[in-house]
Amino acid sequence: MKAARLEDGAFQIKDVPAPVPGEEEALVRISAAGVCHSDLHMVKAHFTTGRSSGLGHEAIAVVEALGPGAERFTQVGDRVILGLGGMGGYWCGACEYCLRGEPRHCAEAKQILGTFAEHICVWAKSLVKLPDEIGDREAPLACGGLTAFGAVKKLSKHGVPPGRSVAVIGAAGGLGHYAVQIASLFGYRVVGVDIGAERLEFVRSLGAELALEPDEAVDVVQRDFGGVDAALVFSARLAGFKTGLQMLRRGGLFVAVGLPPRSEGNLELNPLEFFLRDPTLMYSAVGTVGDMRELVELAAAGRVKSHVSRVGALSELPTIFDELEAASYLGRAVVTDLSR
Ligand SMILES: [Zn+2]
Ligand SMILES: [Zn+2]
Repeated sequence: MKAARLEDGAFQIKDVPAPVPGEEEALVRISAAGVCHSDLHMVKAHFTTGRSSGLGHEAIAVVEALGPGAERFTQVGDRVILGLGGMGGYWCGACEYCLRGEPRHCAEAKQILGTFAEHICVWAKSLVKLPDEIGDREAPLACGGLTAFGAVKKLSKHGVPPGRSVAVIGAAGGLGHYAVQIASLFGYRVVGVDIGAERLEFVRSLGAELALEPDEAVDVVQRDFGGVDAALVFSARLAGFKTGLQMLRRGGLFVAVGLPPRSEGNLELNPLEFFLRDPTLMYSAVGTVGDMRELVELAAAGRVKSHVSRVGALSELPTIFDELEAASYLGRAVVTDLSR
């Protein structure tokens, strides 16, 4: 079968043997795989160098074979979504973190990696069955959608109730476009921040009350809202992190989701400013299987939509990565033909 991989850090598409499902694993045939910013980070070696691994972690697939014990969780022929935000393809389910609903910190968590291939084996318990209403192009729900959903759910959990103002930085991107929809759906007043007239128009169409360029966002929200109650930062640029922090009102909640390359340096906060403005800072990544089920229900009801504006075959991945880096398409890209 064909698979896109990293070999000693270099991107390659090669022929490899189809995997065989192990204990409690399902072998699935990938129908569509979304392209995530984390894939770009891996290909461009922003965080690791010289690594060899599969690539891709959000997909819709069909179950083709089961390893021993997997029949308790799924059946051959099931159409499923897999990803869980790239982490948590396996987790223990019983440690302190798993019981708190944060499986990404589980010491036994294993990644789902390798959805840019015709087949992959995954832990059957992590698969969520899909209703027919959800088409293959909704594959980015698996990571982009779930990660945005998990970040928006942090708001009420950390004291920001519906009705309050929330900035979404990187609002037209692969994750941000979900966050604008989900936060609006939950009743938040969304201020979307992105670059360029076309992207801002798109952000308004998703339900944002305001859509602003980064260079005007801080002044506008400080003047009109007294700062926002929370900032969800999906930007993979340090500048986006700074904008989010500056948009907050006193005591606001800062939820980081994007990962700027290490080379961009550190987010700095002067202690006096920290004392005066008293922000709560946290990271949000991925979600749980329970979150995935809730999100699938919202998507099946047509209340959350994946905006896919770029579709290609496996061989087009290098071009798609260049386009993603240049932010030349809106929303998400999906690979729908994994055989060429
Ligand atoms: Zn991802
Ligand atoms: Zn655990």
